[in-house]
Amino acid sequence: MVTIATLGSHCALQVLKGAKDEGFKTLLLCEKKRERLYRRFKFIDKLILVDTFLELVEKKCETVLQENNSILIPHGTMIAQMNSEQIESIKTPIFGNKYILRWESDRMLKEQLMKEAKLDVPKSIASPKEIDRLVIAKRHGAAGGKGYFIASNEQDYNKKRDLLIKKGIINGDNDLYIQEYHSGVLAYLQYFYSPVKNELEFFGIDKRHESDIEGLSRIPAENQLNSNKVPSFNVIANSPLVLRESLLDNVYAMGENFIEASANLVPPGMNGPFCIEGVYDENAQFKAFEFSARIVAGTNIFMNGSPYTTLIYDEPMSMGRRIAREIKHATVENKIKNIVT
Ligand code: AMP
Repeated sequence: MVTIATLGSHCALQVLKGAKDEGFKTLLLCEKKRERLYRRFKFIDKLILVDTFLELVEKKCETVLQENNSILIPHGTMIAQMNSEQIESIKTPIFGNKYILRWESDRMLKEQLMKEAKLDVPKSIASPKEIDRLVIAKRHGAAGGKGYFIASNEQDYNKKRDLLIKKGIINGDNDLYIQEYHSGVLAYLQYFYSPVKNELEFFGIDKRHESDIEGLSRIPAENQLNSNKVPSFNVIANSPLVLRESLLDNVYAMGENFIEASANLVPPGMNGPFCIEGVYDENAQFKAFEFSARIVAGTNIFMNGSPYTTLIYDEPMSMGRRIAREIKHATVENKIKNIVT
């Protein structure tokens, strides 16, 4: 029998609850400091206690995972704490395509894949000297928006960059990617692609609450001008959104183009959960500034299903449960090799 395993953070509760609902055994790689939290949840059958998640690539951990016939579900914490080489070296089967996670972490590869998917991507700015409009400077990898900042010219950029260096958050320009800033309604589009059914499912939409950029709108302009605090985009929470129905057709088209582009550039393609992240402008055009090639934490809102999963399933369907169901279908149809790497 397969055990569904993941790292104790991000969306682990949703993933393991979904696995249990589908009848799987569950296993959590848990940092010792979080043991008390995760022991509260009875749907977690087994904990492997570690000091850091990097122990995942050590033989001791891999042996327990393999003895339990585990499939590992990757999420944002894995990408934030392990580099691409480490992730690709994991011997336990990983749900989805572990090679595409490199394309998520590397801003240049990311841009290439998004362009191949015909997404409308904000312009990237090669050097601080070329800043001629409002831009956002972003860190590489899944930094969760921490240490990002907005700048309107080179001088402004340099001042804020130097502050981050002083705080030890970055080493220099190489740690930042500069992109044209777009304002509008932010939307994070959550999808699941099943290679077993060859079908794309649109799962839900969330909005992120980011600190402290969100706090800025509560302060009168004169106080904003007097403050020399640099607001960041640190994700604190998520809340649900629904879109105007007329926008849905394009949501599916973007998802399908992304699947096609991933199959071309990063075989075996974008299998399982993914998210396209961006902003709708005043003409309801979507500018896509990001993708996540695995489950996003915004799906935690929909542990009991979303308005969109209600249209597909006659039962509560979370993304975690959908992953488990895919593993179940693939097992029955002898297609496990198609859904893991
Ligand atoms: P990311 O790591 O690219 O998901 O960015 C983190 C946050 O920064 C997003 O949730 C947005 O609030 C903001 N952001 C990133 N890129 C842009 C952009 N090009 N225009 C406007 N906001 C952005």
